[in-house]
Amino acid sequence: MAANDFEPIYLDYMATTPVDESVAEEMMRCLTIQGKFGNPSSATHLYGWRAQNTVKGARELFAASIGAMPREVIFTSGATEANNLAIQGAARFYAKKGRHLITTSIEHKAVLDVFHALEKEGFAITWVQPNSEGIISVDAIAAAITPQTTLVSTMWVNNEIGTIQPIADIAALTRQHGILLHVDAAQAMGKVAVDLSQLPVDLMSFSAHKVYGPKGSGALFVRDKPRARLIPLFWGGEQEQGLRAGTLATHQIVGIAAAFHRAKLHAEENLNHIRRLNAIFLPGLLALEGVTLNGSREQRVPHNINVCFQGLHAEALLMSLPQIAVSAGSACNSAQDEPSHVLKAIGLSDLQARASLRFSLGRYTTEADIKRALEAIQREVQRERDLAGK
Ligand SMILES: *Cc1c(COP(=O)(O)O)cnc(C)c1O
Repeated sequence: MAANDFEPIYLDYMATTPVDESVAEEMMRCLTIQGKFGNPSSATHLYGWRAQNTVKGARELFAASIGAMPREVIFTSGATEANNLAIQGAARFYAKKGRHLITTSIEHKAVLDVFHALEKEGFAITWVQPNSEGIISVDAIAAAITPQTTLVSTMWVNNEIGTIQPIADIAALTRQHGILLHVDAAQAMGKVAVDLSQLPVDLMSFSAHKVYGPKGSGALFVRDKPRARLIPLFWGGEQEQGLRAGTLATHQIVGIAAAFHRAKLHAEENLNHIRRLNAIFLPGLLALEGVTLNGSREQRVPHNINVCFQGLHAEALLMSLPQIAVSAGSACNSAQDEPSHVLKAIGLSDLQARASLRFSLGRYTTEADIKRALEAIQREVQRERDLAGK
């Protein structure tokens, strides 16, 4: 989707998505004097009751969209906060039981950095490596478990290469060992089927802005039976069962609930749309000389196409392609000049990692966008190869 011929085609949906218009409208109804602006914790007047009812309805809608019960939902400021609450909260609560934690080397920074902080505090961390396809094996996690292990944290859909981890098998393993499992599912909703009534995961993090909801809105699922126990990150009120103090952000909660509800409602048609686009884009890219796909071809979401342009520099290629908006790696790493830790973990060299680009497709991407983008990429890749004399 490009708003006009001068705006670049947006192919960075795994960095963020625009808010769905109907979601934005519902959010706006919670803000102004005419709207449901009251404090959901004000129990003495109509304004408070209206807001409280709105939050209650949104909590039910959100819970239903992920197969959870309303009391298992803790609203947060995003997946980053949900990850912090889950990982720090569980590590600290169960620290008397053991101080060994397991995660993977291909997590988002919002998980990696939490474990780095806990490591400095004296927790022992095992970083499980993926295979060359970008998949974490259940056996590798099983091999890392010790009697001191209290928590395993692994993502569902990788934000850089789109690979899908075997969450059901990992959950069966952790359940069997009586160890908590946290899953960063920020990229899962709308891309894979999320149903926590069928999946024995204890803690799961969600983000609204990857699914056409607002930025600054997320949630942590905390299983009720058996109860996953957490120590809160901060103090200041009894909201969200004492796990997340602070006045409830009615508009943000309504936003994530509406976005998740719509994602589930339209899951099939959205996925078919993305599959159709992928079926044009991926073969078109792979037909170019020296272009290879990073990560598994089968165990991945069709929204993500991460490719290596062998011998080229992704940054230079990006600069010569002003007509498309994509990123080299994840948005969160691009501030530093480090090659992607995910691409390195699946065996790419620094040069290959720096020759890679992540394209991500979304609801507003059209076939015409894909064709225009392909033409531009083909032209630039050819030009750069000619320049390099290859
Ligand atoms: C985007 C993302 C996050 C961070 O979510 P925010 O809601 O922006 O805090 C965490 N994990 C993954 C896998 C992501 O893609």
